[in-house]
Amino acid sequence: MNEEFVSELKKLIQLQKLDSEITSLEEETKSIPEEIKLLTNQINDSQKTVLSAKEELKNIQLQIKQKELDLQTIEGQIKKHNTELNSVKTNEQYRALLSEIQKLTEQKDNIETEILNLMETVDQVQQKIRTLETNYAEEKSKLEGKIEELKKKQEELNTQISQKHQEREKFASEIKPKYLDVYEHIKANRDTVAISAVIDNSCSACNMRLTAQEINDIMKYEEFVFCESCSRILYIPLELEK
Ligand SMILES: [Zn+2]
Repeated sequence: MNEEFVSELKKLIQLQKLDSEITSLEEETKSIPEEIKLLTNQINDSQKTVLSAKEELKNIQLQIKQKELDLQTIEGQIKKHNTELNSVKTNEQYRALLSEIQKLTEQKDNIETEILNLMETVDQVQQKIRTLETNYAEEKSKLEGKIEELKKKQEELNTQISQKHQEREKFASEIKPKYLDVYEHIKANRDTVAISAVIDNSCSACNMRLTAQEINDIMKYEEFVFCESCSRILYIPLELEK
């Protein structure tokens, strides 16, 4: 057994723990911008329902205005025909005018009914807008609170990450370059995990089954033994805790 090798290997295992802590902190921050975006979209959607209800209200009010103009026109026509009644020469003309007035009066009644109905709808839509506005204000303040929390969490995570990085660099500087370089090289190529524990006689990173000879070589603790399949440094966790 090479004492120096065992001591450095133990440090590398510790280093990997720090690296995996950094990785999981970084993973945690990665999702935050997306979460903030989703919450912002929810706020905007909620605002859109208010705006579209207001648009609906505007349209109904325009319809009412148009119908009031139609009403004025018809009332003008009825007035005109009523005046004409005084100057008609024949019964036929008189009856025709009366019938025209009758028709226009019916139209006028219809439009008045339509306006009343639209006004009721205005009341309903105004009520709906008030409800939506209340909901929007509540939701907005709730979601903005969540966004603030997420931003705070992100800042805290960033602080933790930079502290961990410092801790990691300091710790790494205490490992002999001969060993550290191997670790860093594998880490760069192997998706951060460079040292793999042997569990049930297999490499825990890639599940490759190890031969008795390989296990033997690892337990000599003379030099690195690499996994044949994934090239990571192998170690036996319980052995190293002795
Ligand atoms: Zn492997």
